[in-house]
Amino acid sequence: MKIAVIGAGLSGLVSAYVLAKAGVDVVLYEKEHYLGGHDRTVYRRASGTVQYFWNKDYGN
Ligand SMILES: Cc1cc2nc3c(=O)[nH]c(=O)nc-3n(C[C@H](O)[C@H](O)[C@H](O)COP(=O)(O)OP(=O)(O)OC[C@H]3O[C@@H](n4cnc5c(N)ncnc54)[C@H](O)[C@@H]3O)c2cc1C
Repeated sequence: MKIAVIGAGLSGLVSAYVLAKAGVDVVLYEKEHYLGGHDRTVYRRASGTVQYFWNKDYGN
């Protein structure tokens, strides 16, 4: 069986991980150039470069 997961937000990443771990052939599609969807946190350094992280403020 081959399954396509659309979107590499938290739901898509977890779904693809669980399916792949169960032996399913998974293809994960993401329209942006980063993973994490709305969960990402974006920092712009003083130098102007941009870094993406996972949010760490959940549950606060
Ligand atoms: C500022 C902020 C604070 C939050 N704080 C909390 C919190 O404290 N606690 C909490 O539980 N939740 C919080 N949330 C909500 C949480 O971020 C979302 O519930 C979670 O990110 C949803 O994940 P998701 O994978 O369902 O959707 P998304 O994160 O929206 O991921 C969807 C992905 O699909 C991609 N996509 C869309 N269309 C296509 C397409 N046609 N082809 C390919 N890819 C596509 C998108 O680019 C995206 O990467 C917060 C959200 C925001 C914005």
